[in-house]
Amino acid sequence: MHSHTHSRESAAARVSAPLSLDAFLAPLRKVRRLGADKAIACCPAHEDKSPSLSVTQAGDRILLKCFGGCRTEDVLAAMGLTWADVMPPRNMPETPEERRKVRQLMREANWAAALEVLALESKIVLLAGQTYAPLKLLAEDDQARLEKAVHLIDGAAAVFCEGRKWRPHGH
Ligand SMILES: [Zn+2]
Repeated sequence: MHSHTHSRESAAARVSAPLSLDAFLAPLRKVRRLGADKAIACCPAHEDKSPSLSVTQAGDRILLKCFGGCRTEDVLAAMGLTWADVMPPRNMPETPEERRKVRQLMREANWAAALEVLALESKIVLLAGQTYAPLKLLAEDDQARLEKAVHLIDGAAAVFCEGRKWRPHGH
């Protein structure tokens, strides 16, 4: 079993051996696994207090998406990595069928990650709503709408988080 403990500056020397998901995630903050091949973490390319970078292993490539809007190149650059570290050249999608498969994988991974981000961030909005609703700062109609929204977000997030314990500061 070889481990991925070698340093990042050897990236160029192992063009044909992209990082494992674990090795890729190792330097990132607040990593949260969403399954064997998926995780979210704080994006290294922008000021990110809660995880908004989706990372998915798809075969021997690693797919990235920052929900904060960073370009993948910038995320890689912030980690001192290049495309070769996440996508071996021989594994560039070749056929339309393969390209479709990669796009589908990426979409599904991003849905999972987006839901995770929404669940987390909606809790923040929820907490803010719960804090501010009793202060009655809004007009009556808006106040009622806010209270309803808080209630609905709470219910919806509970469905999504089912089976997992909600940990507001869990990393
Ligand atoms: Zn970012």
